[in-house]
Amino acid sequence: MYFCLFLHLLMPHYLDQDIQFVPGVGQKRAEILFAEIQVRTVRDMLYYFPYKYVDRSKFYAIRELTSEMPYIQVRAKFVQMQTVGEKFSQRLRAVVTDGTGYLELVWFQGAKWVKDTIKLNKEYIIFGKPTEFNGKLNVVHPEIEELEKFDARISTSFNSLYNTTDKMKKANISSRTLQTIVKAIFDNLRNIPLPETLTSAIITRFHMPGLKDALREIHSPESSERLQKAEFRLKFEELFYSQIKVVRQKMLVNRTSNGHVFATVGNHFNTFYQNRPFELTGAQKRVIREIRQDMGSGRQMNRLLQGDVGSGKTLVALMTMLIALDNGFQACIMAPTEILASQHFETITGLVKDLDINVRLLTGSTKKRQRDIISEELKTGKLNILIGTHALIENNVVFANLGMCVIDEQHRFGVAQRARLWEKNNIPPHVLVMTATPIPRTLAMTIYGDLDVSVIDELPPGRKAVKTIHMYDTKRANLYKFIHDEIAKGRQIYIVYPLIKESETLDYKNLNDGYQTITKLFPFPQYRTVMVHGKLKNDEKDAAMAEFAGGKAHIMVATTVIEVGVNVPNASVMIIESAERFGLSQLHQLRGRVGRGAEQSFCILVTGFKISEDSRIRLNAMTSTNDGFEISETDLKLRGPGDLEGTQQSGLPLSFKIANLAKDGQILQVARDVATEILEFDPDLEKLDNPIISRNLQFLAAQQTNWGNIS
Ligand code: ADP
Ligand code: MG
Repeated sequence: MYFCLFLHLLMPHYLDQDIQFVPGVGQKRAEILFAEIQVRTVRDMLYYFPYKYVDRSKFYAIRELTSEMPYIQVRAKFVQMQTVGEKFSQRLRAVVTDGTGYLELVWFQGAKWVKDTIKLNKEYIIFGKPTEFNGKLNVVHPEIEELEKFDARISTSFNSLYNTTDKMKKANISSRTLQTIVKAIFDNLRNIPLPETLTSAIITRFHMPGLKDALREIHSPESSERLQKAEFRLKFEELFYSQIKVVRQKMLVNRTSNGHVFATVGNHFNTFYQNRPFELTGAQKRVIREIRQDMGSGRQMNRLLQGDVGSGKTLVALMTMLIALDNGFQACIMAPTEILASQHFETITGLVKDLDINVRLLTGSTKKRQRDIISEELKTGKLNILIGTHALIENNVVFANLGMCVIDEQHRFGVAQRARLWEKNNIPPHVLVMTATPIPRTLAMTIYGDLDVSVIDELPPGRKAVKTIHMYDTKRANLYKFIHDEIAKGRQIYIVYPLIKESETLDYKNLNDGYQTITKLFPFPQYRTVMVHGKLKNDEKDAAMAEFAGGKAHIMVATTVIEVGVNVPNASVMIIESAERFGLSQLHQLRGRVGRGAEQSFCILVTGFKISEDSRIRLNAMTSTNDGFEISETDLKLRGPGDLEGTQQSGLPLSFKIANLAKDGQILQVARDVATEILEFDPDLEKLDNPIISRNLQFLAAQQTNWGNIS
């Protein structure tokens, strides 16, 4: 027994064995598996899950088949088989019947095998995807199996389908091949226990199957009930480990990093509050209370502030900074772009003009002389609030006593950059991260799981919701009339064109053509139109923006450069050309540029008739809601977490193997609760069988670094 245990520790587990030694694989296939689906070991294969299951107890009658069906299975006789077509389009064509109708099967490759094996007038099981070709249904490259073999092989009624690539198919590695490989693995595993990756407390509490059972069921489920249990366990496990990591990080920060205690709200805060430009919304007040609590707690604040465009985050940021100032500290705001930084600078200097506060702007284009002044004032503490871009985290920027740092549009900053800010002081400053791209709660819990979250879910009063309309470009005449009428009412108009690197030349042409059309229809000097895009020099861009912001230009034709940073309350119409080419969060951001004044605002999404299903869902989402959180949920469902704006930079693994952040919010919540419970009771994971968790964490971390080295 001891000997076994010892051996077990020394020898690599069967799971770590190279996949090539599994019967039926071999070196060549192993190479392809690794190159195509990153399966190198037995474990990798077991964690390559089917993407769907087909109920193979179900046979269709040929008469019922439609091309809409994703997969069909029929039992039918071959009645005809012939090679057709010329040399380069040669293919094997067969006709089968089950008595209810006829179905055509086609092979472009592997015809010889089919001709040699299939016997006419004999019944086979035929499985594949029906497609319509010249008005007739056919199945290209179906799977064919003899009745007897089928009966012997199918032990469960589910057929698991695995994703395969073209290269795999060419090498004869089909979904079925993977089934066979997995089966061989489980045969070998019969007498080998798998090290459990969850504690018995968790397994018992949620009535989960053990790891081995879960893996077996996920690959070849015996019933849909068992499949569900296996899915739950494996999803839970993935989400649980992601949460253990972030919750632990959060607790670590809470435990180790003392924060400045900002006990008082003093002069600046009070004076500002007494002379506030408008009454704060309930949500703004609540968030400020949450922040004050953090800053008085003696712990370092790490808080994410989510709020839709226009919800008034800047004011919250400012009041937070004033608290720092009142307690004798400096504060800073870091923004992702120069435009945004300058805008913050202008807003903030405007808001604090009656207070005795020294605010400065530092960006990449700040002149040396100005930099020197800033440097000097920072060190002596004469500078109270520094506003800027990434330039703020450079090493030569030294604060006398930074107490509070606001990061705007955090999703463009990585976690690592956030960490560098902490190093600016012995005691790390409080950090408030603001994002105007609301992200779904599930995603926030994963990316920002180490932060506390505050939400401004209320817009300042008096705003009229932006009316959003989808319009086909055949209705352009109406559109121009509308622009005309709105300008007559004294409003200003944005017209935005897509600009995507891959199609840059054509996009610039469209932008220019659009500009030409508009200036013809709305001629100077009665109308003024400016154009803004990324190829302009900074001062040209600034001049055009200033003209529009100052109300001198009626129309701004632009690319998405206006997405951030422009605040023109009198602009009430946002027209988005080729709207189907924009991402959902981008459309929502653009829409946020209007609706800032008291007038009724409009967002008009212009597209052609031919648009994809996904685009249609995006357009529908835009016309049916103004709520950024709803929009982001839809975006998450459409694109998956890895592609959502900004998540790529988060540096966290978001592509789960089986969990889906768009669908598994509930499981994520449970996983987080359990992770928190365990860590609160046992922060070092050494009690009961919690060491299982820390061992697995180490294992996962090692696996990740291995990947890092490979790719
Ligand atoms: P965002 O959350 O997008 O950063 P801002 O802070 O830029 O929003 O605020 C948008 C606009 O709303 C600004 O013009 C700001 O002055 C105004 N605003 C903010 N809070 C209020 C409020 N409580 N009442 C009225 N207007 C407000
Ligand atoms: Mg803002």
